[in-house]
Amino acid sequence: MIHFRHLRTRLTVLYAGLFGLALMLVAVAVFTAITASARGVVRSELTASGAVYDQLWSSRSAQLEQGAAVLAQDFGFREAVATNDEPTVRSALENLSARQGVDGALLLGVDGYAIAGGASLDDATLDTLWTGLNGGEISSGVLDLNGQPHQAVAAPVMAPVLIGWVVFIDRLDQAQMTRLEELSAIPLSASVLTRAADGWRDMSGPESALAGLMNRAVAADGAAVTGRNAQGEAMVLARPLPSFDADAPAVLALSYPMAKALKPYEPMFWALGAISLLGLALLVAGTWFLSRGLTKPISALDEAVHRLQAGEDARVEITSSDEIGRLAESFNAMAGDIRDRQARLTHMALHDLETGLPNRLWLEREVASSASAHVVLFGVDRFEVVRNAIGFEAMGQLVAALGARLSAATGAPVARVGAGVMGMVLDVEGDDARALASAIRLCAVADEPLKLIGARVDAALTAGLARAGQATGGLDAIVDRAGVAVDQARATGAKAALFDAAAYGDPGANLSLMSDLIGALESEQVWMAYQPKFDLRQNAITGVEGLMRWNHPKRGFIAPDLFIGMAEETGQIRALTEWGVRRAIADQKALAKAGHNLKVSINVSGRLLSDESFARFALNAVSRARADLCFEITETAVIDNPEAALGIIDRFTAAGIKVSIDDYGSGLSSLAYLKRIAADELKIDKAFVMSLDESAKDALLVKSTIDLAHSLGMTVTAEGVETQTALALLRGMGCDTAQGYLIARPLALPALIERLDKPALEAAA
Ligand code: C2E
Ligand code: CA
Ligand code: CA
Repeated sequence: MIHFRHLRTRLTVLYAGLFGLALMLVAVAVFTAITASARGVVRSELTASGAVYDQLWSSRSAQLEQGAAVLAQDFGFREAVATNDEPTVRSALENLSARQGVDGALLLGVDGYAIAGGASLDDATLDTLWTGLNGGEISSGVLDLNGQPHQAVAAPVMAPVLIGWVVFIDRLDQAQMTRLEELSAIPLSASVLTRAADGWRDMSGPESALAGLMNRAVAADGAAVTGRNAQGEAMVLARPLPSFDADAPAVLALSYPMAKALKPYEPMFWALGAISLLGLALLVAGTWFLSRGLTKPISALDEAVHRLQAGEDARVEITSSDEIGRLAESFNAMAGDIRDRQARLTHMALHDLETGLPNRLWLEREVASSASAHVVLFGVDRFEVVRNAIGFEAMGQLVAALGARLSAATGAPVARVGAGVMGMVLDVEGDDARALASAIRLCAVADEPLKLIGARVDAALTAGLARAGQATGGLDAIVDRAGVAVDQARATGAKAALFDAAAYGDPGANLSLMSDLIGALESEQVWMAYQPKFDLRQNAITGVEGLMRWNHPKRGFIAPDLFIGMAEETGQIRALTEWGVRRAIADQKALAKAGHNLKVSINVSGRLLSDESFARFALNAVSRARADLCFEITETAVIDNPEAALGIIDRFTAAGIKVSIDDYGSGLSSLAYLKRIAADELKIDKAFVMSLDESAKDALLVKSTIDLAHSLGMTVTAEGVETQTALALLRGMGCDTAQGYLIARPLALPALIERLDKPALEAAA
């Protein structure tokens, strides 16, 4: 089976093939019919001519016979024969043959003796003639004379018994045949053939053109046969003629070449062929056009399928109402469905299911398509806290509502980038300060409380910005940076911040930093600095806060804010803090040996407060050393798992470990939580203390915090005391303890001992 690339080629080839076949059959039929009819004509003409020749033969025979009989019955002639008067006989024969117009005449005696007039016969021929006549079977027939067929006719000479025969011999020549040929309606050729030992010979000699066909023609017994000879196909009819020589039969052969018979039809054959070719060409063209018309919509569908596969628009025009039209209709419907589904999928891929806002991927694409813009992320402050309070569902609504407000304020879509983070492209040309300012303005959309499921919820936003061209890295890196900027803003207590690459460092390097840190814990690189805590009532240093220091061999001094935060994130904070507790206990002993009995404060990450093994370690270590420690706890982390944390804090206090709430005022302070926690000390964040002498509002805050702490039974430590004014103000407010550069910077143990030997408050003193 041949494969066609196009349906129309297939149709065309099929139709052209079928039509060609039909044409061929018709041509064969026509040719056969015409040939048969031509044959019939030739056959009947040959037969008729044969009959005519019979007629000619017998009338000639009768005429000659009569002439011979006249002589044979002539009295004088008979007497001359009887008396053997040879000259008379010969002259009579010559006379007669001249009169009859034959080639020769002879008298053949019954004894075989011949007297010839005109023709002379050789002995063999005479013998043949005599044998035929003496047998009495033949008196007229063909006689071969010198290789030429002759007609011989004999009449008996009776005196009164048979004494011989008068025989006329006349050559069967071409002229006779030509006459016969002229009588016929078709130009046949006639010839008399005799069969000799070496084959058929005709009047012109041996090697007859018909020789090959003669045996069959004779065997056909008067019917015409066709066959090939030297001139091509011919039809031959053989009529037997009587022959004197039984061994050499004679026939009249009438022949006609078939090519000649078909010649008149030739123009018709040509015309037929031309018409067929023309018809075939018309059919091919017609089928081509027809099938093109048929297959055009199919081709259109085929193309549409390819377009559909390529994800392009794939509608086909419906041009008919037949099956193909219906197919096109269903195809369009299907393509439409696929398009819709694809659109839905794309929408789903680019949108947040919960809020219906665009998602992070969408934002990344948005960033990609807008050059030189800022990406701003808005983080919902205290997301986990609020979510735990109002539930996941309401939190989703809260994010959606804030997103709606943000996009209403900017006129641009807002994406939900994380659980509590939204983001957008902020198109403020180049200027970081202006971008920052508009980000801060946008944070104000959260100022008005939100109404969710009937309740009012307060929310706050912090913004982080990153400039698209700020650093190398993928697009997601820009969004990530904006996310980091949110954390950076929160860390500094700002409403918004631009991503600070220097503060962030290299996260990849930071990770390896962590393993460096754990490895360095028991080396010279890491040590504990101590910052004195000055008791404002006793006017003496009564305690120190341990602050970890790390001098990296390659990177130099690394800020604790950086490695502590990382240790919290990577789970190394427990190892770090346990090291700190051991160090503090050892250093407290060393201090005591030097004559200084001081309470040592250790910073304990809130995250560790739900860590049971840390709690067991700390309790065990403290009780074994009978150490006097205080744990400063940053409250942000306590809230992560309040129940567990509160339980562990209770166990610490029960074991005599003091508990301090660190950085009060900077994080997520809540009065309710302040009431529940069994703390001994509250540390006011240095941000408030440092601006104490400038801001009346901060002074008021510090004062009321001191009062509140006192009423809850806690002592108050103010950290970040840098000036005498601040110290005086704090003293006036009833603050219990002061810590800060004014008293001392964090010091290594030997330096601390040295410092402790001096007056507690040099400047104040
Ligand atoms: P923190 O607990 O609030 O520690 C007080 C920070 O304020 C220290 O910074 C200290 O050097 C600084 N400071 C003290 N007085 C003044 C002052 O008068 N003015 C100013 N501007 N700063 C003052 P440092 O040492 O960089 O520590 C940063 C934070 O790292 C600490 O904040 C604490 O949260 C954490 N940290 C330090 N050591 C440890 C530790 O061993 N364990 C844990 N978990 N956290 C630690
Ligand atoms: Ca602290
Ligand atoms: Ca602090």
